[in-house]
Amino acid sequence: MSPRRNRRAPVPGGNARRRVTVAEAGEFGLLDELLPALPGARDVLVGPGDDCAVVALGDRRLLLTVDTLVEGVHFRRGWLTPRQLGRRAFEVNASDVAAMGGVPRWCVLSLAAPATTPAGDLAAISRGVAAAAVAAGARLVGGNLSRARELSVALTLVGEAPAQPVTRAGARPGDLLFVTGSLGEAALGVRLLRRDPDARGAPVRRFRAPRARVRAGALLAGGGLAAAMIDVSDGLLQDLTHLCVASGVGARVELSRVPCSARVRHAGRLLALAGGEDYELLCAIPARHRGRVERLARRFGCPFTYIGVCVPPPPRVRVVDGQGRPMPVSAAGHDHFLGRRR
Ligand SMILES: [Mg+2]
Repeated sequence: MSPRRNRRAPVPGGNARRRVTVAEAGEFGLLDELLPALPGARDVLVGPGDDCAVVALGDRRLLLTVDTLVEGVHFRRGWLTPRQLGRRAFEVNASDVAAMGGVPRWCVLSLAAPATTPAGDLAAISRGVAAAAVAAGARLVGGNLSRARELSVALTLVGEAPAQPVTRAGARPGDLLFVTGSLGEAALGVRLLRRDPDARGAPVRRFRAPRARVRAGALLAGGGLAAAMIDVSDGLLQDLTHLCVASGVGARVELSRVPCSARVRHAGRLLALAGGEDYELLCAIPARHRGRVERLARRFGCPFTYIGVCVPPPPRVRVVDGQGRPMPVSAAGHDHFLGRRR
């Protein structure tokens, strides 16, 4: 296309209506605009808006999800080795499959990079994806390469769904809220890496090498114990708000019960509430299943902690202290278009 044709033609009547940018719409405003336009079908059991789509293929049910890691947005080059970046790309997708109670099976990788990128880096990213996939019982089966201004790693993952996939939408007032593992450590790692790209220690390791809670998710779904589930990728309060909106319930979280390390408590508990990057599972469990779920959790390979309860709508999350008094915290987690660059 010639430079002349590339120039935008003047609009008759002038440019009175300025276009809303994606930054102004925000990630969730943009999704509100994009999603209703997608036609459904009988074999689409769960469409957009959950951790994965669920589709039927014969009598099998598959989970579909995609995630992209972009240089300068999700990471800086010096923060992870190429192999760690590849592993991370797999785990963040596997976390969405885990949140439906499924197991990862096949993935395809799309790598985009500047022409100056060492070829060995792209090979190492691919090997990282392949190794993480094998460790989870899945396989990297193909992909695509493209030139771009920044390095980006996009992975599409297909998972096998359980008989009853767990969505975000099944929670009811009175259900108990539990979370796997501990929160805030990876966000603390990001904070440390921003100050010093050579930072070391547990928080940095947690950012570099998240592990999707596939076993816990599959056991919860298989036992029919979880009424609703989501993975905590954008911060506990934001992801819990998504679960509440989808389920039409509110939630009350006891701050002192939110599991986090002494390091995170020292750095500020807001990291555990709104830091993001945790890739833990948050689920709503009907109160009658409490005993069964606590026995089952011994097989998760990670802590499984009660943090609060679902309450009647409106779908709002309140954080309370040990005496039940409301605490002033913002539910702001990560918005992919409003969030700052890294
Ligand atoms: Mg998710």
